[in-house]
Amino acid sequence: MLKDQDRIFTNLYGMHDRTLKGAQARGHWDGTKGILAKGRDWIVDQMKQSGLRGRGGAGFPTGLKWSFMPKESDGRPAYLVVNADESEPGTCKDREIMRHDPHTLIEGCLIASFAMQANACYIYIRGEYIREKEALQIAIDEAYDAGLIGKDACGSGYDFDLYLAHGAGAYICGEETALLESLEGKKGMPRMKPPFPAGAGLYGCPTTVNNVESIAVVPTILRRGPEWFSSFGRQNNAGTKLFAVSGHVNNPCVVEEAMSITFEELIETHCGGIRGGWDNLKAVIPGGSSVPCIRGENMREAIMDFDYLREQRSGLGTAAVIVMDKDTDIIKAIWRLSKFYKHESCGQCTPCREGTGWMMRVMDRLVKGDAEVEEIDMLLDVTKQVEGHTICALGDAAAWPIQGLIRNFRDEIEDRIKHKRTGRVSAAVAAE
Ligand code: SF4
Repeated sequence: MLKDQDRIFTNLYGMHDRTLKGAQARGHWDGTKGILAKGRDWIVDQMKQSGLRGRGGAGFPTGLKWSFMPKESDGRPAYLVVNADESEPGTCKDREIMRHDPHTLIEGCLIASFAMQANACYIYIRGEYIREKEALQIAIDEAYDAGLIGKDACGSGYDFDLYLAHGAGAYICGEETALLESLEGKKGMPRMKPPFPAGAGLYGCPTTVNNVESIAVVPTILRRGPEWFSSFGRQNNAGTKLFAVSGHVNNPCVVEEAMSITFEELIETHCGGIRGGWDNLKAVIPGGSSVPCIRGENMREAIMDFDYLREQRSGLGTAAVIVMDKDTDIIKAIWRLSKFYKHESCGQCTPCREGTGWMMRVMDRLVKGDAEVEEIDMLLDVTKQVEGHTICALGDAAAWPIQGLIRNFRDEIEDRIKHKRTGRVSAAVAAE
């Protein structure tokens, strides 16, 4: 279990004062000028050494991403954009940072922007996060008033502005290029890549888009050193991590833990165990709704990190851990996700626009058992036609949960079809 002194998010549960005074009392904004004085290359190098991988889901090394930004300005401004459009079902970790520890994020924005020669940073926050937006704006105003950001930020001689942009509730705006389109005032539709944002991002200028948690951990890493951060977790899976555990555990929560903790330790230490005990565990989606589920019996010893969960044909994603016990209608649970992705598809590319509708309609019938057994393989085939054939990852996100369902619970789908034939499907399912 992570010791209290190793926690980066010291006010995750809102037990302390989240204002600037409270944040400074907990060590934030301590020696920020000195960190900036060490220079851009030093900061990027420290981030590379820390082994931090992006916390938004993809797990791309953060320091490496920063190094893609041009070293010399060609006259265009550079930007840092923080993706706070946290909308993946099950994911609510960034919300806690913005609610209770906003200064950690703001200080991270300053340091990261400085490292990438960006004089402006935009935080794009999810439309539904009204209270979080208010908390962040108050903290931004405090930081301006105290001279921590703005002109000559922290007395460093560097000018830095921070803006908060409020989304309108579209999931697709969490995709980095759709987010940039939305920030520019356009419809939030993903762009084709290349060009990548580091070459041509916001307003056609060099831009890095990072997740809230990725930026909020930066000041602590630089204060305590990359070796400290990388001492947690397995090789290539360094650091501490926020896990958002929901579903059928006795105490759903968001908690900071060491990367590579086992699923059992995570659940027993922080969540009061599985509802009804471990024998009652049916399935887990370990990384937010877009990664495939894993059967319960294969989860107890699972290592919660990027590499292990990928080897299990799933993923750590955003570390939103959705736990389902044996009362769960797993077909219906995945159908609900299919409905979500169909609704959120922006519709600009055919495999996603048509495929998500197709998949949802077949899932509709599988929930009721109103299908032929052969359609299971046909559905699997459709997911493979969508996966990897779209402009952005929403197509994959729609396909993978269904692939996980079929891989792990084909017997249950077949059983439902068989029972429908014999008229023994439950009234609740038939009424769907
Ligand atoms: Fe839009 Fe879907 Fe294509 Fe992404 S994959 S660009 S959401 S249609």
